[in-house]
Amino acid sequence: MLNIDWKNLPFGYVKTDYNVRCYWRNGQWGELEVSSSETVNIHIAATCLHYGQEAFEGLKAFRCKDGKVRVFRWEENAKRLRNSADGILMKSVPDKLFKEAMELAVKLNMHYVPPQDTGSSLYIRPLLIGSGPKVGVQPADEYLFMIFVTPVGPYFKEGFKPVNVQIIRDYDRAAPLGTGHIKVGGNYAASLIAGERAHHEGYSTAIFLDAHEKKFIDEAGPANFFAIKGNSYITPQSKSILPSITNMSLRTLAEDMGMKVELKSITVEDLAGFDEVGACGTAAVISPIKKIQDRDTGKVYEYCKDGNAGPVSTKLYNRLRAIQSGEEPDKFGWTHVIE
Ligand SMILES: *Cc1c(COP(=O)(O)O)cnc(C)c1O
Repeated sequence: MLNIDWKNLPFGYVKTDYNVRCYWRNGQWGELEVSSSETVNIHIAATCLHYGQEAFEGLKAFRCKDGKVRVFRWEENAKRLRNSADGILMKSVPDKLFKEAMELAVKLNMHYVPPQDTGSSLYIRPLLIGSGPKVGVQPADEYLFMIFVTPVGPYFKEGFKPVNVQIIRDYDRAAPLGTGHIKVGGNYAASLIAGERAHHEGYSTAIFLDAHEKKFIDEAGPANFFAIKGNSYITPQSKSILPSITNMSLRTLAEDMGMKVELKSITVEDLAGFDEVGACGTAAVISPIKKIQDRDTGKVYEYCKDGNAGPVSTKLYNRLRAIQSGEEPDKFGWTHVIE
């Protein structure tokens, strides 16, 4: 038996038994390897260490009521990893290899998939790095694809409770024609100062505006932004936003619930007219937002006046969670059983 307090897991790293790895060498992907080591031995001149050739993914496996373990929308993560690889000239991982590696990583660590009614899940972290040496700025000749898994609780400490966030203008996470639309480590490096400062100032995250005009909402830290206004689900459209699979799923659910889905630029002023706002991503599904403070003007936008998440966000959250945990029929074909 594992000595894990499943209900109080942080969103952090817990050691599991195995991870899986695969190298691209001499023009092809090799055999999947199973490792019980938590470390990676790579060349000191590997391009991931110097020139940021690194991309990652994040998805979850859930233990369901029927005892089966289901992974949510892995095909979308596989596709996004291919886009990320293309975007920084790495060898892309074929979907078949992604699937095999993911299934193996989960199966080898099956007893780390948290029990069904704990709110916790098994986080799956695929990553792809340039592992071959280069001293001049060039893409590597060798790549390493890995997947590790770790049991996690909810991302935001507060759980499905409204959080406070701040709008900032003195840092950008991504340039308009840069790499904001792909899931590469460099974007995260660029967001760290603003994110840590937000935490120190008492906010759960920083909202980044579009880098060009500083007028439109781009992302809520490492999550997408959405708003509810009347019967509409509104989410920003921008070339520097990472296309969130959670956001994509929420849009489908909103439409299914008879709502209108609008993809459009959202200005800071628009915030005053919304009924509910939130951040979304795999880690938390939805983080409802209670208060947005503009760090420069001091202006405050408030939601959830009674302290609870709004009704539409709550409904969307519950439906997505019900599909993930197998309590609601998977009518969109989003889940995949690991057998
Ligand atoms: C991963 C990520 C998200 C969330 O995407 P999901 O597929 O929903 O997990 C949002 N924004 C950024 C910047 C991300 O890296």
